[in-house]
Amino acid sequence: MILKFRYEPEELKMLRFLHGRMRLTPKDYSHFLNLEKGFSGEKIFDELLEESPEEWIILHDLLFDYSNTFFQIDSLLITGDCIYIFEVKNYEGDFYIEQDRWYTAQTNTEVKNPLLQLQRCESLLRRLLQELRVKTPLKALLIFINPGFHLYQSTMNLPAIFPAQIKRFMDKLKLKSQPANKNHLMLADKLMSLHLEETSFGRGLEYTFEGLEKGMTCLSCKTFLMPFNKLTMICLKCGMKEDITHAVTRSVDEYRLLFPELKVTTANIHEWCKTIYSKKTIRKILVNNYTLINTGRSSYYK
Ligand SMILES: [Zn+2]
Repeated sequence: MILKFRYEPEELKMLRFLHGRMRLTPKDYSHFLNLEKGFSGEKIFDELLEESPEEWIILHDLLFDYSNTFFQIDSLLITGDCIYIFEVKNYEGDFYIEQDRWYTAQTNTEVKNPLLQLQRCESLLRRLLQELRVKTPLKALLIFINPGFHLYQSTMNLPAIFPAQIKRFMDKLKLKSQPANKNHLMLADKLMSLHLEETSFGRGLEYTFEGLEKGMTCLSCKTFLMPFNKLTMICLKCGMKEDITHAVTRSVDEYRLLFPELKVTTANIHEWCKTIYSKKTIRKILVNNYTLINTGRSSYYK
């Protein structure tokens, strides 16, 4: 059973919103692509785990602080006889290892050694589990999810599952693993209580309300929407239509994530949504969907 699900990282959402409204710096843009790629790889792996036996305990996307060190786990699988850390990598193309360093074969560029990250994570979780007096053995594995990934000079003892092996690995695990018991459920509860919500996301990003392009973006192609009629917005590029209330509340969510320090006021949202000409329409949508905090002229919505 899956006790903790994975959600889209807030930082990825922010970058996606910003990408549609400004030119990202090359560094932010490449970070955005990496996050997007990483997240889509994790989702593919999550889907594979969805078909796992009911007596397995699965926790996705955990963040811990153990003795003042943060570490993150992509997926944790608790079975009766082993606890697995899965670090999912969506690497694509040919790679090789030379003296413990990882390189892309095409450009010979060094990449971060994913094993080091895995080992660090394993060692910290092992210490945490010891403190919790958990005796179940721990095993950490890299999961290479992308079928277009190949690693040259790989050895048998590399703790990694390659794309062509994933299904076999899962099948084998289903056959040999013991069901998790009550103690494991208690452990899962404990781990979830220790899990931290990411709060420092997006701190390095530089943008202002004034500097962003305004309008409501299309859900499917990110082009700005235009009014179709009184109740509907339309994307002139892909033809997708969206109910105006839905489009506005979605844009308010976007505004709140990007500008947590700014208030949701009719004037701000009217400017933010841009293509809804009537302020009345905006006010009506805000009144119906948010709570008005009435402080006279400076009233706003929550
Ligand atoms: Zn569109």
